[in-house]
Parts: sequence; C-alpha cells; structure tokens
Amino acid sequence: MNYDNILKEIYTEVSPLFDKGEIAQYIPALSTVPRNKFGMAVCTLDGETYTIGDAYEQFSIQSISKVYSLTLVFKLIGERLWKRVGKEPSGNPFNSLVQLEYEKGIPRNPLINAGSLVLTDILLSEFQEPKKEILNLVRKTSGNNAINYDNAVIASEKITGHRNFALAHFMQSFKNILNPVDDVLDVYFHHCGIAMNCVDLARSFLFLANHGIIPDSGEYVISKSEAKRINALMLTCGLYDESGDFAFRAGLPGKSGVGGGIVAVLPEKLCVSVWGPSLGPAGNSLAGIAALEHFTTLTGMSVF
Ligand code: GLN
Repeated sequence: MNYDNILKEIYTEVSPLFDKGEIAQYIPALSTVPRNKFGMAVCTLDGETYTIGDAYEQFSIQSISKVYSLTLVFKLIGERLWKRVGKEPSGNPFNSLVQLEYEKGIPRNPLINAGSLVLTDILLSEFQEPKKEILNLVRKTSGNNAINYDNAVIASEKITGHRNFALAHFMQSFKNILNPVDDVLDVYFHHCGIAMNCVDLARSFLFLANHGIIPDSGEYVISKSEAKRINALMLTCGLYDESGDFAFRAGLPGKSGVGGGIVAVLPEKLCVSVWGPSLGPAGNSLAGIAALEHFTTLTGMSVF
C-alpha cells in the first residue's frame, strides 16, 4: 500500500473544506487556531508511520480524551460501569441535557459529555491523583513522555464551561455524581485539555487495534474483550449525533473532539488520525471526516 501517495491525494481532495464550517468558539482559547491547518498520520501495528501536513503540530484533543478515561475506568471497575452509564448512541449533541431528565441522570454512553463526567467522577473516587493517571496512560500508549496538559485551554474552558457544570450538578441531583462538582470538572477539563499531535494520537490508540496490548512495548492495557467493547462504542457513539453518518462514510470506529481531531482504529492493522480545526454542525472536523472517508475508499480497508 502506498500510504504516502494516498495521503497526498487526500490532502488535495479535502483542502477546499478548510474554508467551510466553524472553528469552536465556546472555548475561547480554541477560537484562534488557523482554519487552514491540516495534518494526518497513519501508524501501523508493524511500526510504520506515514504523515502529511501539520501532523507533528500539537492541538487540543478535547473529547478524544473520553476514550482514555473510559479505558481507565473499564480497567478499574469492569462491568459495574454500566450501572452508571449506558451504551446506546444518544442521537443528540455532545453537550445535550435533555435525555438526562427522563433517563434519571444516567447518560446514554461514556463518549458524550454527561457520560464522560460520570467516568471522571469514578476516576476521582478510585485514584488519589487522577490527572496523573490519565497523563500516564496517554504517555505510555503513545510512547511520548513529553505529552502534557495545556493550561491555557483548561483555564479558558473553565470560565465558559457552564453547560458542563450544569450537566454535573443535574446528575449529582440523581446521585450519579458523587464527588464535588468543581473537582469533577477540574479533572474533566484537564483531560480535554491534553495537547497532542496526529502522530502521538494515532500511536496512542494502537492498543485498541491490537486487542488491548501496546504493540511497541508489549504492555497489557486492557483485555481483548474490553478493547472490542471500546471499539464498538466508538463506532456507535464516537462522533455523537453524527456517529451513524461517520460509520456509513468511513466504516471505522473513531473518536472526535472539538479541537478538530479525529482518530480511527482499523483492528489488527493500524490507527489513523486527522486534524482539521473547522467543524460541521455536530462539532466534528469537516475535513477530518472527509479525509477518513477518502482513506478507507482509497485503501479499500475498513472494518466492513
Ligand atoms: N471539552 C469539551 C466540552 O466539554 C469537549 C467537547 C468535544 O470535544 N466535543 O464541551
């Protein structure tokens, strides 16, 4: 497979989309990112890396971090997790409050904000230093010890994160948030505020393509069955109310963030990540979705 040529072709195809859509405005620190940034990285299980564009430039991973917290919580409490969060697509925006009232404070899935807040609450209950544990997982799975929190983005989101505070307080009224809301939000904004580049991101998801084992080090992260479940959740819920469309177009489990990143997993083969800051109406990278659709079309590879 000539990944270099494929990435070049994708870049040409998606570049007209850089002018379309909107950069996330509700987190002021994200609103100044230039809209013509675009990077893409393919990392294979046999250790090859292919890149194009701004693949080594850091960006805010935002909701992609929900997969790391899910991995940690799944490892810690296993199936007990499903008492506090569901596993169905929400069909609603990532920060929606509506379902929570009639579903009694149990979020639809762990990859929307409400679900991730519950998982963050569990991390706070289980770990002395949850922020350190999350960073350790990201560093270990990517093999890059320099990855860190971006404090400017975190501080910026803290000031404008009213909906997330509302979600957490609401769930606390149903006793599905057990720690103080300020503490939960502090850890949540931290994991959303991790800065990574496309190569780090694709590499750090390889354990999900490799049945729970980090290919470089051989280290066990989660079981084969847990890796299967996380991939299934990414396929059905990873792009919020655009998950069906993304599965239809790209045919891969993936996770997006409002920083414009998307990472996708092709089990037993590779991970591919893309960054394009301009977002469509559901808060997912316009160029990113198109690039992943082209990737599976041009390579002929997907989970289907
Ligand atoms: N930190 C963002 C929020 O909570 C993450 C949302 C996203 O990336 N979709 O609103």
